[in-house]
Amino acid sequence: MKKSFLAFAILLSACVTCIQGCSSASNEKKQEQTEEKAVYQCPMDCEKGKTHDKAGQCPVCGMDLEKAPVKS
Ligand SMILES: [Zn+2]
Repeated sequence: MKKSFLAFAILLSACVTCIQGCSSASNEKKQEQTEEKAVYQCPMDCEKGKTHDKAGQCPVCGMDLEKAPVKS
């Protein structure tokens, strides 16, 4: 009897963990959707204000592009 209760308790806690994980994952997705769009720009501004929509390296100097706020 005790063993089956223990197994039930473990199963229940596993379910709760799964539900919490799922709900927090969907919350993260919602936050991503509401997050402001970001552009990437060379910290040395080699391309004179040109921005990239994806992170990467500057094609001119090879430095990592930095996140810059979108000008509206
Ligand atoms: Zn550069």
